[in-house]
Amino acid sequence: MPDYQQLTAVEIVSLVSQGEVSAVEITREALQLAEAEGEPLNAFITLCKDRALEQAVAIDKRVRDDMADGLPLLGVPVSIKDNLCYRDYPTTCGSHILEDYNPPYDATAVSRLIKAGAVIIGKTNMDEFAMGSSSETSYFGVVKNPLDQSLTAGGSSGGSAAVVAQGIVPVALGSETGGSVRQPASFCGLYGLKPTYGSVSRYGLVAYCSSTDVVSPFARDVYDLALIFDVICGEDNNDATSISFDRVDYVKDAESNRKYRIGMVKEHYVEGLDPQVESVVREAASKLERDGHTIVEISLPSGKYAVAMHYIIAPAEASTNLARYDGVRYGLREAGDRELDEMYAATREAGFGREVKRRIMLGTYVLASGYYDRYYVKAMEVRELMRREFEEVFKEVDLLISPTAPTPAFKLGEKTHDPLAMYLSDIYTIPASQTGVPALSVPFGQAEDGRPIGVQFTAPWLDELSLFRIAHRLDHLG
Ligand code: GLN
Repeated sequence: MPDYQQLTAVEIVSLVSQGEVSAVEITREALQLAEAEGEPLNAFITLCKDRALEQAVAIDKRVRDDMADGLPLLGVPVSIKDNLCYRDYPTTCGSHILEDYNPPYDATAVSRLIKAGAVIIGKTNMDEFAMGSSSETSYFGVVKNPLDQSLTAGGSSGGSAAVVAQGIVPVALGSETGGSVRQPASFCGLYGLKPTYGSVSRYGLVAYCSSTDVVSPFARDVYDLALIFDVICGEDNNDATSISFDRVDYVKDAESNRKYRIGMVKEHYVEGLDPQVESVVREAASKLERDGHTIVEISLPSGKYAVAMHYIIAPAEASTNLARYDGVRYGLREAGDRELDEMYAATREAGFGREVKRRIMLGTYVLASGYYDRYYVKAMEVRELMRREFEEVFKEVDLLISPTAPTPAFKLGEKTHDPLAMYLSDIYTIPASQTGVPALSVPFGQAEDGRPIGVQFTAPWLDELSLFRIAHRLDHLG
């Protein structure tokens, strides 16, 4: 077999469909790497060995029976973030409170992967309930960056980013609420897409902030990213917020000569942005300009409220979404002989970590009568303002270019005692989450010490194709 860790998903599909390598061989290799190289990174919470091998055996049989034609992810090993339900395997969300929760069903995105021929290798580590930017709030310990283990892999989908960067799987699913795939993609040198809100079903994705949560993929290659998005997107009757839309061929049309008008947001280049990140973004912009695209300066004044807005809206929704973990219906229950209220409190006290408790308190506070108008309603007004600004800007330009994160990957432990500094790392990713538009982090340059740096592109609602095209172009320009 060719060097598995270098193979793209597209190459694996071609090898398996032609019978040159079996899905079982590929799966064994991925599982063995998951143990040998994934464990030191603490990237997995659960490996799904038995089911993965069963899936691979079934795929090989389909290939032998000539029944495997057209399966877009035939034999491709995939990892999924541990907030995506996978039948009969623990779905912990990185939390003690769900440590023993084994859902009886698959998330829609996961069942679509399986239907497309993918093999689910394991469930990846993450910030508890996807709250965090460094994969350090997990009950199961911190995730390390494969490029330098003293660094964070980013968060909250750090485990999924780490396993793709390490070559254990070519593609993986994470989830986004405010940057949780784009930022780790930037920290690990990967492509990370946050699709349009509603374009991928949230059914079976454990809710954090339901109005912005989106299942979101990682890949090392643009075509692989387009391929996995193509497989998981589309309307789903099980999710009332999923939308129907006209499909295009994201893979075939990713290569194009279309010249874009690209906006650079003038408010982005301020204090707090690492000059190395700024110069990488400017370099990407001038390469695109030389390639015939037009770069124009635009203004998005509401961006300065992004972090404040997200850290009101997300905790508000989290505080209501997480009310269901009360020791009665799911997972952990503390001390059976207490009064009901005491049992709730003891369960939540023992089951949630510090960051989750902080968010629940914040969210309860901003929703309390008396504070609701002052905080929650204000944040919703800012969100509407931002949505309108995006609408206006996208009348003028096709795409936006920006940093993904203000810095390259930071040290583990560097920001754990300073939540505000941690929250600021989402400043460039939150606007697309709060307005619902798609955005993609493209690995482009690096810092002097070699840490990767991502450049973010943002497109109008449902124009993922333009994101793949510009990423493909940039890859070509090198
Ligand atoms: N870092 C942000 C938060 O903690 C966003 C996380 C995410 O996208 N899930 O809320």
